[in-house]
Amino acid sequence: MKIICIGRNYLEHIRELDGNSNLPSEPLFFMKPDTALLRNNNPFYLPDFSRELHYETELVVRINRVGRAIAERFAHRYYGEVGLGIDFTARDLQRECMSRGLPWEMCKSFDYSAAVSPRFLPLASLGGDVQRLHFQMELNGEVRQQGDTSMMIFTVDKIISHVSRFVTLRMGDLIFTGTPSGIGSLASGDRITASLAGEKLLDIAVK
Ligand code: MG
Repeated sequence: MKIICIGRNYLEHIRELDGNSNLPSEPLFFMKPDTALLRNNNPFYLPDFSRELHYETELVVRINRVGRAIAERFAHRYYGEVGLGIDFTARDLQRECMSRGLPWEMCKSFDYSAAVSPRFLPLASLGGDVQRLHFQMELNGEVRQQGDTSMMIFTVDKIISHVSRFVTLRMGDLIFTGTPSGIGSLASGDRITASLAGEKLLDIAVK
């Protein structure tokens, strides 16, 4: 399986990153290997190569059949369950990668950089519309991120259509759909919790 991540998919997040609101013209994506998976709400250990490790809370879509070059109007047939994930990011290294024009693997694809909720919820049980979902993340009990999927710049179906032009999607692949605003740094002793449509799915100790 592979993990596909979308960058810059919420306007307020682009503003907090760049201080402007230059919209991407098509979905920006990158990948994490399966060694990046952090499952079962296991603790996240801050890596020694970063001094600015950020959380990004994201809706995660699980692909349930094989597809390539999927038309946007058929994309909804390729998923039926959604969960939450944290796209852990070494922000200091990312800045360095971007300024030097380097790829992002170092800052985005390291071991355990993709936390995925133990449970995924059937989309049908959440009203059936992937663009009408609300999720929330708390750091040490304080709300830091609120996501409303109607605010995505590129819809899940658009993302699937775009990515599958380049990369074949397979059953079990995970798509991280981008983070809303409110990203921030983590410190040892922090606790991340997050819920989707009121259901608590993530509870991760930072060590
Ligand atoms: Mg992200």
